Amino acid sequence: MKTVFSGIQPTGELHVGNYIGAIHNWVKMQDQYRCIYCVVDYHAITQDYPVKEMKSRVHDMALDILALGVDPDRAILFVQSAVPEHTELAWVLSAVTGHGDLERMTQFKDKSVNQSENINAGLFSYPVLQAADILLYKAELVPVGADQVQHLELARRIGRSFNNRWGKVFPECEPKLTETPKVLGLDGKQKMSKSLGNHIPLSAIEDKPLRKLLGRMVTDEKRVTREDPGDPDVCNVFSFHKIFSTDDDRAWVREGCTTAGIGCVDCKGRLVGRMIEHFADYRERRAALVANPARVDEILAAGADKARAIAQRTMAEVRQKLGLWRSP
Ligand code: ADP
Repeated sequence: MKTVFSGIQPTGELHVGNYIGAIHNWVKMQDQYRCIYCVVDYHAITQDYPVKEMKSRVHDMALDILALGVDPDRAILFVQSAVPEHTELAWVLSAVTGHGDLERMTQFKDKSVNQSENINAGLFSYPVLQAADILLYKAELVPVGADQVQHLELARRIGRSFNNRWGKVFPECEPKLTETPKVLGLDGKQKMSKSLGNHIPLSAIEDKPLRKLLGRMVTDEKRVTREDPGDPDVCNVFSFHKIFSTDDDRAWVREGCTTAGIGCVDCKGRLVGRMIEHFADYRERRAALVANPARVDEILAAGADKARAIAQRTMAEVRQKLGLWRSP
Protein backbone atom coordinates (compact mmCIF):
# COMPACT_ATOMS: atom_id res chain seq x y z
CA MET A 1 0.00 0.00 0.00
CA LYS A 2 1.43 3.38 -0.98
CA THR A 3 2.10 5.97 1.69
CA VAL A 4 0.61 9.46 1.46
CA PHE A 5 2.03 12.46 3.32
CA SER A 6 0.89 16.06 3.45
CA GLY A 7 1.29 18.96 5.80
CA ILE A 8 -0.27 22.31 6.50
CA GLN A 9 1.00 25.28 8.46
CA PRO A 10 -0.84 26.40 11.59
CA THR A 11 -1.15 29.91 10.20
CA GLY A 12 -4.74 30.55 11.25
CA GLU A 13 -7.98 29.29 9.88
CA LEU A 14 -8.52 27.14 6.85
CA HIS A 15 -10.10 28.60 3.76
CA VAL A 16 -12.02 27.18 0.82
CA GLY A 17 -8.80 27.14 -1.31
CA ASN A 18 -6.98 24.86 1.15
CA TYR A 19 -9.96 22.57 1.32
CA ILE A 20 -10.80 22.32 -2.38
CA GLY A 21 -7.14 22.35 -3.48
CA ALA A 22 -5.69 19.91 -0.95
CA ILE A 23 -7.61 18.71 2.11
CA HIS A 24 -10.46 17.33 0.04
CA ASN A 25 -7.91 14.77 -1.24
CA TRP A 26 -6.57 14.14 2.27
CA VAL A 27 -10.04 12.90 3.17
CA LYS A 28 -10.58 10.92 -0.02
CA MET A 29 -7.22 9.17 0.04
CA GLN A 30 -7.68 7.68 3.53
CA ASP A 31 -9.65 4.78 2.09
CA GLN A 32 -6.97 3.68 -0.36
CA TYR A 33 -3.60 4.49 1.17
CA ARG A 34 -1.60 4.67 4.39
CA CYS A 35 -2.10 8.39 5.09
CA ILE A 36 0.04 10.58 7.31
CA TYR A 37 -0.99 14.20 7.86
CA CYS A 38 0.91 16.82 9.76
CA VAL A 39 0.48 20.31 11.18
CA VAL A 40 3.88 21.75 10.26
CA ASP A 41 4.67 24.17 13.07
CA TYR A 42 8.44 24.28 12.37
CA HIS A 43 7.63 25.63 8.91
CA ALA A 44 5.49 28.36 10.44
CA ILE A 45 8.35 29.89 12.46
CA THR A 46 9.95 31.18 9.24
CA GLN A 47 7.34 33.96 9.39
CA ASP A 48 6.65 36.31 12.28
CA TYR A 49 3.84 34.98 14.48
CA PRO A 50 2.32 35.70 17.88
CA VAL A 51 4.11 33.19 20.14
CA LYS A 52 1.24 33.10 22.64
CA GLU A 53 -1.11 31.97 19.89
CA MET A 54 1.00 29.14 18.46
CA LYS A 55 -0.51 26.40 20.66
CA SER A 56 -4.07 27.38 19.92
CA ARG A 57 -3.35 27.75 16.21
CA VAL A 58 -1.97 24.22 16.09
CA HIS A 59 -4.94 22.92 18.04
CA ASP A 60 -7.46 24.76 15.85
CA MET A 61 -5.85 23.59 12.63
CA ALA A 62 -5.93 19.97 13.81
CA LEU A 63 -9.54 20.42 14.92
CA ASP A 64 -10.52 21.75 11.51
CA ILE A 65 -8.74 18.93 9.68
CA LEU A 66 -10.61 16.38 11.79
CA ALA A 67 -13.91 18.21 11.30
CA LEU A 68 -13.37 18.08 7.53
CA GLY A 69 -13.31 14.30 7.75
CA VAL A 70 -9.75 13.13 8.41
CA ASP A 71 -10.36 10.07 10.57
CA PRO A 72 -7.76 9.15 13.22
CA ASP A 73 -8.70 5.48 12.85
CA ARG A 74 -7.67 5.53 9.20
CA ALA A 75 -4.96 8.21 9.07
CA ILE A 76 -2.16 9.48 11.30
CA LEU A 77 -2.51 13.12 12.32
CA PHE A 78 0.29 14.74 14.32
CA VAL A 79 2.32 17.90 14.92
CA GLN A 80 5.72 18.19 13.22
CA SER A 81 7.68 19.41 16.27
CA ALA A 82 6.60 16.29 18.21
CA VAL A 83 8.82 14.22 15.88
CA PRO A 84 12.34 15.73 15.94
CA GLU A 85 13.51 13.40 13.15
CA HIS A 86 11.98 15.90 10.68
CA THR A 87 14.60 18.54 11.43
CA GLU A 88 17.35 15.94 11.73
CA LEU A 89 16.66 14.57 8.24
CA ALA A 90 16.35 18.11 6.87
CA TRP A 91 19.96 18.77 7.84
CA VAL A 92 21.13 15.61 6.08
CA LEU A 93 19.14 16.48 2.97
CA SER A 94 20.51 20.00 2.90
CA ALA A 95 23.87 18.42 2.00
CA VAL A 96 22.40 17.07 -1.24
CA THR A 97 20.32 20.12 -2.16
CA GLY A 98 21.61 22.56 -4.74
CA HIS A 99 21.76 26.18 -3.60
CA GLY A 100 20.77 27.17 -7.14
CA ASP A 101 17.72 24.90 -6.94
CA LEU A 102 16.52 26.68 -3.81
CA GLU A 103 17.11 30.05 -5.42
CA ARG A 104 14.73 29.13 -8.22
CA MET A 105 11.75 28.48 -5.90
CA THR A 106 9.00 30.96 -6.73
CA GLN A 107 7.47 30.71 -3.24
CA PHE A 108 10.75 31.89 -1.73
CA LYS A 109 10.81 34.83 -4.12
CA ASP A 110 7.16 35.69 -3.33
CA LYS A 111 7.61 35.35 0.42
CA SER A 112 10.78 37.45 0.31
CA VAL A 113 8.74 40.26 -1.20
CA ASN A 114 5.92 39.83 1.34
CA GLN A 115 8.26 39.79 4.36
CA SER A 116 11.20 41.86 3.14
CA GLU A 117 12.14 42.70 6.76
CA ASN A 118 12.64 39.04 7.66
CA ILE A 119 14.27 37.06 4.83
CA ASN A 120 15.77 34.35 7.01
CA ALA A 121 17.71 31.21 6.04
CA GLY A 122 14.77 29.07 7.18
CA LEU A 123 12.56 30.70 4.57
CA PHE A 124 15.21 29.85 1.98
CA SER A 125 15.66 26.22 3.03
CA TYR A 126 11.94 25.66 3.69
CA PRO A 127 11.65 23.19 0.76
CA VAL A 128 14.41 21.03 2.31
CA LEU A 129 12.38 20.61 5.50
CA GLN A 130 9.37 19.91 3.33
CA ALA A 131 11.33 17.20 1.48
CA ALA A 132 12.34 15.74 4.86
CA ASP A 133 8.67 15.70 5.99
CA ILE A 134 7.75 13.62 2.96
CA LEU A 135 10.80 11.37 2.67
CA LEU A 136 10.89 10.49 6.37
CA TYR A 137 7.74 8.44 5.78
CA LYS A 138 8.88 7.22 2.34
CA ALA A 139 5.70 8.77 0.98
CA GLU A 140 4.98 8.39 -2.72
CA LEU A 141 1.92 10.59 -3.04
CA VAL A 142 1.54 14.12 -1.70
CA PRO A 143 -1.91 15.73 -1.90
CA VAL A 144 -1.29 19.47 -2.36
CA GLY A 145 -2.47 22.44 -4.41
CA ALA A 146 -0.83 23.55 -7.67
CA ASP A 147 1.35 26.10 -5.84
CA GLN A 148 3.33 23.24 -4.25
CA VAL A 149 4.21 21.36 -7.44
CA GLN A 150 7.58 23.08 -7.78
CA HIS A 151 8.53 22.14 -4.20
CA LEU A 152 7.51 18.54 -4.89
CA GLU A 153 9.75 18.39 -7.95
CA LEU A 154 12.61 19.54 -5.78
CA ALA A 155 11.76 16.95 -3.10
CA ARG A 156 11.97 14.26 -5.77
CA ARG A 157 15.36 15.58 -6.89
CA ILE A 158 16.63 15.68 -3.31
CA GLY A 159 15.51 12.08 -2.71
CA ARG A 160 17.30 10.97 -5.88
CA SER A 161 20.47 12.84 -4.92
CA PHE A 162 20.47 11.14 -1.53
CA ASN A 163 20.00 7.72 -3.13
CA ASN A 164 22.79 8.37 -5.65
CA ARG A 165 25.25 9.54 -3.05
CA TRP A 166 24.58 7.20 -0.13
CA GLY A 167 22.49 4.32 -1.45
CA LYS A 168 18.79 3.83 -1.98
CA VAL A 169 16.51 4.69 0.92
CA PHE A 170 13.79 6.87 -0.58
CA PRO A 171 11.11 6.20 -3.21
CA GLU A 172 10.04 8.83 -5.76
CA CYS A 173 7.28 11.14 -4.58
CA GLU A 174 4.76 12.94 -6.71
CA PRO A 175 2.02 15.53 -6.13
CA LYS A 176 -1.60 14.44 -6.12
CA LEU A 177 -3.77 17.33 -7.27
CA THR A 178 -7.53 17.66 -6.91
CA GLU A 179 -9.82 18.50 -9.81
CA THR A 180 -9.39 22.17 -8.85
CA PRO A 181 -5.71 22.53 -7.94
CA LYS A 182 -5.81 26.34 -8.00
CA VAL A 183 -8.84 28.00 -6.45
CA LEU A 184 -9.10 31.69 -7.27
CA GLY A 185 -9.93 34.24 -4.60
CA LEU A 186 -12.79 36.73 -4.37
CA ASP A 187 -10.91 38.97 -6.82
CA GLY A 188 -11.22 36.21 -9.45
CA LYS A 189 -7.61 36.79 -10.51
CA GLN A 190 -5.14 35.57 -7.93
CA LYS A 191 -5.05 32.28 -6.05
CA MET A 192 -7.18 32.32 -2.91
CA SER A 193 -4.85 33.09 -0.06
CA LYS A 194 -5.14 34.41 3.45
CA SER A 195 -2.19 36.74 2.97
CA LEU A 196 -3.89 38.36 -0.03
CA GLY A 197 -7.14 38.82 1.94
CA ASN A 198 -9.18 37.37 -0.95
CA HIS A 199 -10.17 34.19 0.88
CA ILE A 200 -13.37 32.62 2.19
CA PRO A 201 -12.60 31.19 5.64
CA LEU A 202 -14.47 27.97 6.41
CA SER A 203 -15.76 29.70 9.54
CA ALA A 204 -17.60 32.21 7.30
CA ILE A 205 -19.72 29.55 5.62
CA GLU A 206 -22.95 30.61 7.26
CA ASP A 207 -25.78 32.49 5.64
CA LYS A 208 -25.04 36.12 6.51
CA PRO A 209 -21.23 36.22 6.44
CA LEU A 210 -21.09 34.14 3.27
CA ARG A 211 -23.61 36.37 1.48
CA LYS A 212 -21.51 39.35 2.47
CA LEU A 213 -18.25 37.81 1.26
CA LEU A 214 -19.70 36.52 -2.00
CA GLY A 215 -21.15 39.97 -2.55
CA ARG A 216 -17.53 41.06 -3.04
CA MET A 217 -16.76 38.26 -5.47
CA VAL A 218 -15.82 39.57 -8.91
CA THR A 219 -18.02 38.19 -11.73
CA ASP A 220 -17.79 38.51 -15.54
CA GLU A 221 -16.39 42.03 -15.75
CA LYS A 222 -18.00 42.60 -19.15
CA ARG A 223 -21.43 42.23 -17.52
CA VAL A 224 -21.83 45.79 -16.31
CA THR A 225 -25.60 46.04 -15.75
CA ARG A 226 -28.29 43.52 -14.81
CA GLU A 227 -29.58 43.72 -18.40
CA ASP A 228 -26.25 42.66 -19.98
CA PRO A 229 -25.90 38.95 -20.70
CA GLY A 230 -22.89 37.35 -19.00
CA ASP A 231 -20.45 34.55 -19.78
CA PRO A 232 -20.27 31.89 -17.03
CA ASP A 233 -17.07 30.47 -18.51
CA VAL A 234 -15.10 33.57 -17.49
CA CYS A 235 -16.87 34.01 -14.14
CA ASN A 236 -15.27 32.81 -10.89
CA VAL A 237 -18.70 32.40 -9.27
CA PHE A 238 -19.49 29.80 -11.91
CA SER A 239 -16.26 27.96 -11.17
CA PHE A 240 -17.54 27.67 -7.59
CA HIS A 241 -20.87 26.35 -8.89
CA LYS A 242 -18.85 23.70 -10.72
CA ILE A 243 -17.50 22.55 -7.37
CA PHE A 244 -20.49 22.89 -5.07
CA SER A 245 -23.69 22.85 -7.12
CA THR A 246 -25.75 20.29 -9.01
CA ASP A 247 -26.00 19.87 -12.79
CA ASP A 248 -29.45 21.46 -12.63
CA ASP A 249 -28.07 24.52 -10.82
CA ARG A 250 -25.35 24.90 -13.42
CA ALA A 251 -27.84 24.62 -16.29
CA TRP A 252 -30.01 27.24 -14.54
CA VAL A 253 -27.04 29.60 -14.18
CA ARG A 254 -25.87 29.10 -17.77
CA GLU A 255 -29.32 29.73 -19.21
CA GLY A 256 -30.12 32.65 -16.90
CA CYS A 257 -26.73 34.36 -17.10
CA THR A 258 -26.27 34.16 -20.87
CA THR A 259 -29.80 35.57 -21.45
CA ALA A 260 -29.71 38.09 -18.59
CA GLY A 261 -32.66 36.19 -17.10
CA ILE A 262 -30.94 36.15 -13.70
CA GLY A 263 -28.57 38.62 -12.11
CA CYS A 264 -25.29 37.97 -10.31
CA VAL A 265 -27.05 38.34 -6.95
CA ASP A 266 -29.42 35.46 -7.84
CA CYS A 267 -26.50 33.33 -9.00
CA LYS A 268 -24.53 34.02 -5.82
CA GLY A 269 -27.62 33.36 -3.67
CA ARG A 270 -27.92 29.83 -5.10
CA LEU A 271 -24.22 29.26 -4.43
CA VAL A 272 -24.59 30.34 -0.77
CA GLY A 273 -27.20 27.60 -0.23
CA ARG A 274 -25.08 24.93 -1.88
CA MET A 275 -21.93 25.83 0.03
CA ILE A 276 -23.78 25.76 3.34
CA GLU A 277 -25.13 22.29 2.47
CA HIS A 278 -21.68 21.09 1.44
CA PHE A 279 -20.14 22.04 4.78
CA ALA A 280 -23.03 20.88 7.01
CA ASP A 281 -21.19 17.74 8.23
CA TYR A 282 -18.06 19.80 8.84
CA ARG A 283 -19.96 22.25 11.04
CA GLU A 284 -21.54 19.43 13.03
CA ARG A 285 -18.26 17.57 13.61
CA ARG A 286 -16.54 20.86 14.40
CA ALA A 287 -19.07 21.74 17.10
CA ALA A 288 -18.59 18.31 18.72
CA LEU A 289 -14.80 18.73 18.80
CA VAL A 290 -15.00 22.28 20.11
CA ALA A 291 -17.04 20.88 23.00
CA ASN A 292 -14.34 18.26 23.65
CA PRO A 293 -10.92 19.89 23.09
CA ALA A 294 -9.07 17.15 25.02
CA ARG A 295 -10.05 14.71 22.28
CA VAL A 296 -8.02 16.69 19.73
CA ASP A 297 -4.93 16.58 21.97
CA GLU A 298 -5.39 12.84 22.50
CA ILE A 299 -5.54 12.26 18.74
CA LEU A 300 -2.42 14.36 18.17
CA ALA A 301 -0.47 12.56 20.91
CA ALA A 302 -1.41 9.12 19.59
CA GLY A 303 -0.61 10.27 16.05
CA ALA A 304 2.84 11.53 17.12
CA ASP A 305 3.66 8.13 18.69
CA LYS A 306 2.83 6.33 15.46
CA ALA A 307 4.65 8.85 13.28
CA ARG A 308 7.74 8.79 15.53
CA ALA A 309 8.03 5.01 15.27
CA ILE A 310 8.15 5.22 11.46
CA ALA A 311 10.47 8.24 11.50
CA GLN A 312 12.94 6.56 13.84
CA ARG A 313 13.16 3.52 11.57
CA THR A 314 13.94 5.70 8.55
CA MET A 315 16.53 7.74 10.46
CA ALA A 316 18.29 4.54 11.61
CA GLU A 317 18.58 3.56 7.96
CA VAL A 318 19.79 7.04 6.99
CA ARG A 319 22.46 7.08 9.71
CA GLN A 320 23.66 3.68 8.64
CA LYS A 321 23.93 4.80 5.00
CA LEU A 322 25.85 7.91 6.03
CA GLY A 323 28.29 5.78 8.06
CA LEU A 324 27.79 7.85 11.20
CA TRP A 325 29.27 7.00 14.59
CA ARG A 326 27.21 4.40 16.42
CA SER A 327 25.05 3.79 13.42
CA PRO A 328 23.78 0.23 13.15
P1 ADP B 1 1.41 26.09 3.16
O1 ADP B 1 2.43 27.17 3.23
O2 ADP B 1 1.44 25.08 4.27
O3 ADP B 1 1.35 25.48 1.78
P2 ADP B 1 -1.16 27.11 2.65
O4 ADP B 1 -2.17 27.43 3.68
O5 ADP B 1 -0.82 28.12 1.61
O6 ADP B 1 0.08 26.80 3.45
O7 ADP B 1 -1.54 25.78 1.89
C1 ADP B 1 -1.99 24.59 2.47
C2 ADP B 1 -2.41 23.66 1.34
O8 ADP B 1 -3.49 24.24 0.62
C3 ADP B 1 -1.29 23.41 0.31
O9 ADP B 1 -1.37 22.08 -0.15
C4 ADP B 1 -1.62 24.37 -0.79
O10 ADP B 1 -1.13 23.93 -2.04
C5 ADP B 1 -3.13 24.37 -0.75
N1 ADP B 1 -3.70 25.65 -1.23
C6 ADP B 1 -3.56 26.86 -0.64
N2 ADP B 1 -4.20 27.82 -1.32
C7 ADP B 1 -4.78 27.20 -2.39
C8 ADP B 1 -5.60 27.65 -3.49
N3 ADP B 1 -5.97 28.91 -3.61
N4 ADP B 1 -6.01 26.73 -4.40
C9 ADP B 1 -5.64 25.44 -4.28
N5 ADP B 1 -4.89 24.94 -3.27
C10 ADP B 1 -4.46 25.81 -2.33
